[in-house]
Amino acid sequence: MDIKHNYIDGHWQAALGGTTREVINPANGELIGIVTDSKQEDTRAAIAAARAAFYERGDWQRMAGPKRADLLLRVAAAIEARADELARLDTLDNGKPLREARCDVDDAVACFRYYAGLITKPQGGVYEVGDGFGPMHAYAMHEPIGVCALITPWNYPLLMATWKLAPALAAGNCVVFKPSELTPLSAVALFEIFDAVGLPPGTANLVLGNGPDAGYELAQSHDVDMITFTGSTRTGQAIASAAVGNLKKVGLELGGKSPNIVFADADLEGAVEWAMIGVFFNQGEVCSAGSRLLIEESIKDRFVARLAERANAMTIGNGLADPDMGAIVSAAQLGKILGHIARAKAQGARLVCGGERYTEGECGKGYFVRPTIFDGCHRDMDIVREEVFGPVLAVQTFRTEAEAIAMANDTPYGLAGGVFTTDGARALRVVREIRAGVTWINCYNPTFNEAPWGGYKMSGYGRDLGVNGLQEYQQIKQININLQPGTVGWYQ
Ligand code: NAD
Repeated sequence: MDIKHNYIDGHWQAALGGTTREVINPANGELIGIVTDSKQEDTRAAIAAARAAFYERGDWQRMAGPKRADLLLRVAAAIEARADELARLDTLDNGKPLREARCDVDDAVACFRYYAGLITKPQGGVYEVGDGFGPMHAYAMHEPIGVCALITPWNYPLLMATWKLAPALAAGNCVVFKPSELTPLSAVALFEIFDAVGLPPGTANLVLGNGPDAGYELAQSHDVDMITFTGSTRTGQAIASAAVGNLKKVGLELGGKSPNIVFADADLEGAVEWAMIGVFFNQGEVCSAGSRLLIEESIKDRFVARLAERANAMTIGNGLADPDMGAIVSAAQLGKILGHIARAKAQGARLVCGGERYTEGECGKGYFVRPTIFDGCHRDMDIVREEVFGPVLAVQTFRTEAEAIAMANDTPYGLAGGVFTTDGARALRVVREIRAGVTWINCYNPTFNEAPWGGYKMSGYGRDLGVNGLQEYQQIKQININLQPGTVGWYQ
């Protein structure tokens, strides 16, 4: 089996220490890849390559916007041409159903196209200014930040990489990217594509390794100008603290415990299906998962019974066979989820369905868990307060709109939230009150490249996607022009 290497300064390179890491298919425990295992020294080499490319050669940042756009469009076309292979890689690596992986690839193609298009549109502004020092004219232009470090988690391997790489590169930065050590394979394929389309050496650098050894240096290095991170809130805090040394810009997309509010007047069959998409899509390993179902008391029993009936009917299995739910990413993550389930039971939540590892047939060799619903949950239970990052739903009831809003906001997180009702004014009132960066009305979880994505509160700061997602990777320079050069006459 080929060992996959780092991509630094336009070359594939083994980690200096020569160690490797095995990549495992969580559906059956089989070895699917071997990658180089980087340490601080490798990350430093990648940072140095990005720095030389940006500050010494500058060919990427100075390349005309339309030419950069053209290369990114070629990246999009190459991803599209390898779509089946890339979807398969993410399914093998992460465990997700193939049709979900295929959607991720389509989104990644569209994301590169979106930012290729956006970078060719007007940016900055022209300002009317005062004439105290004579006639002046002012304008602002957007410039790249410099060397950007990007760190992503394992739940959407190709897509999380793309959400950061596409805008960072479009803006003209040079980057060092570290994917999750659990799911590095599609990132390697993406860098093969960068290599093939001919990004200038040092523009995009890939470092494969774990967080403490390979990732942390990106946060603490004074040679990095910006770090953007998607992952857990705890790691985000460590990265933000390490980043203060040189006051690098920080962007954080962190965890959540998002409320999904269902009023009695909602289309109930529709709300049931969206609630399932909210918490069982991608095995529930979704930062925005609607993991707290807040349901109007009068319909709770009927709704939960139907939800459980449909959850029990979900197919579970190897993602390549395209079941409704695939494998949990690792034995460790499965252990965490089962720990949350055991604590919920011990704290008095009522198990409605699931609640155990799934081991039927070949699944005994992998890491599967049944879709799980707990009823009778209350605010003091861990299952209501802590992110599970698995297919586990906590159900609570409310009687009034005000109570629903208070419960929705009763969390340190603020990534997402949903509301289901046929009363349009109420839907708008409630989403306006939810303290979260991403909200849905009568749906849950659809995400679009065109619209900004990010959290409030401890779910982080900064935005991926949309116009804001490009501006994250830019700084704005003000340029003031004297229209009447010469003396001012200020000092008589
Ligand atoms: P994690 O924080 O353990 O790891 C994320 C990444 O950070 C990995 O690449 C890891 O190697 C790296 N890392 C770990 N420790 C580090 C350190 N000390 N310094 C630098 N890098 C380090 O998270 P995870 O388990 O991979 O992902 C799950 C978490 O990600 C969940 O909390 C989820 O909510 C969050 N998430 C958020 C979003 C969002 O958009 N807000 C999207 C996806 C996932």
